[in-house]
Amino acid sequence: MEKEIICTVCPRGCHIKVVGDDKNVQSLEGYGCKRGVDYATAEFISPVRILTTTVKIDGNDADLLPVRSNKPLPKDKLFECMEIIRKTSVKLPIKQYDVVISNICDSGADIVASKSVL
Ligand code: SF4
Repeated sequence: MEKEIICTVCPRGCHIKVVGDDKNVQSLEGYGCKRGVDYATAEFISPVRILTTTVKIDGNDADLLPVRSNKPLPKDKLFECMEIIRKTSVKLPIKQYDVVISNICDSGADIVASKSVL
């Protein structure tokens, strides 16, 4: 398998070509420094993302609460996490960083409020 990964560690944005399989990287080309090697290896084998979205607010159909994961989540769990978030609603007031969903999908990450809504 071959994949081109754009390194986001610094603004140079190197395009790194990675060749390997599900568990191992065989070769990398195009990186500008060691940090890119680490980034592209992790992104190739086990990509993760911070999830940012919104949840419903009880008794308020007009507004939504912005939320985010407090740690990066495995990319292949994002859909499952979104299904849980979609079924969730919060009661106000809520403060920034309050936990809305704990340990979502057994990932070790919490979904937290991105802002206070009083
Ligand atoms: S590989 Fe190094 S130089 Fe290139 S974008 Fe990543 S951090 Fe920057």
